[in-house]
Amino acid sequence: MSVVGRFAPSPTGDLHVGSALALLAAWASARSAGGRFVYRVEDLDGPRAVPGSVDRQIEDAQWLGLDWDEGPGVDGPNGPYRQSERGAVYEAALRELSKGGHLFPCRVSRKDLQELASAPHGHDGLPPYPAELRPPSLALGWFDDEAARADAALRFRVEAGEVAFRDRVVGRVVESVRHSVGDFVLKRRDGVYGYQLAVVVDDLAMGVTEVVRGMDLLDSTARQILLIRALGGDPPVYAHVPLLVNADGEKLSKRDGALTVRALREAGVEADALVGWLAAALGQGDARRRTPQDVAASFDVGRVGPEPAVVRDGLADRLAAL
Ligand code: GLU
Repeated sequence: MSVVGRFAPSPTGDLHVGSALALLAAWASARSAGGRFVYRVEDLDGPRAVPGSVDRQIEDAQWLGLDWDEGPGVDGPNGPYRQSERGAVYEAALRELSKGGHLFPCRVSRKDLQELASAPHGHDGLPPYPAELRPPSLALGWFDDEAARADAALRFRVEAGEVAFRDRVVGRVVESVRHSVGDFVLKRRDGVYGYQLAVVVDDLAMGVTEVVRGMDLLDSTARQILLIRALGGDPPVYAHVPLLVNADGEKLSKRDGALTVRALREAGVEADALVGWLAAALGQGDARRRTPQDVAASFDVGRVGPEPAVVRDGLADRLAAL
């Protein structure tokens, strides 16, 4: 089977160096296998989107020397490649899930859930959704009944049991989604489709065979595998690449300076210096100037370690001197 990789950024600002790390890894992994690469814009959460950042992220990715076979600017057979234009595809997937008994409408608010304070909190900072809150029964055809859906979120019904998968960076992961998050939201009350639904539906529709992305999404993976199976699909291969941290081991923030691709570029850093540094952070040899093609030619995901990569102060100066 031929490899299809993807990059799926949310347009919440300029391309961060941490996102560029995941992008280079995903691109090099797909290209090293002679595979195709898809670029998908994850712009479902309108209020978090920063105007202009779709185009700016694309420019930053192109400046790094990366390209794609499907996505903005090239199109392809599985578009549109912006999630905000794919509502009909998500609604069709929800309908299919409802037919399989995997979905239910829910009017329990986030606040109500937060008040269930006795339960330990799971991945989303909320206690796992208690199965007792599910509606006791659902009328046949409820999915098309406006009254049954009015003012309700749609949740995926998580059965008991464990999900196990092998991540190419982290190794074996076992999770009971029922215990970690419980029944999770696929469409919010305000009508916005959930990230978990959209990412799974799109990866299936776009024929994605490998998902290479940041470690912050490792704890979404078990949920996504449950959804893929409920939709009759096969899970892709996963590789979660390390996050970048500052010298104190904290997630990089604005205080650590503008660590976006654009800011480095404006500070005089050249693309092949940044690509070489990113490759080194991915365990692919020493930091030296490299093209993406050179990184792909010898890319081995087995050399990517799970530990966060430390970014010391003065990155722009060090890269400019590389
Ligand atoms: N859109 C997500 C983000 O920017 C990434 C989704 C994914 O790679 O699965 O964090």
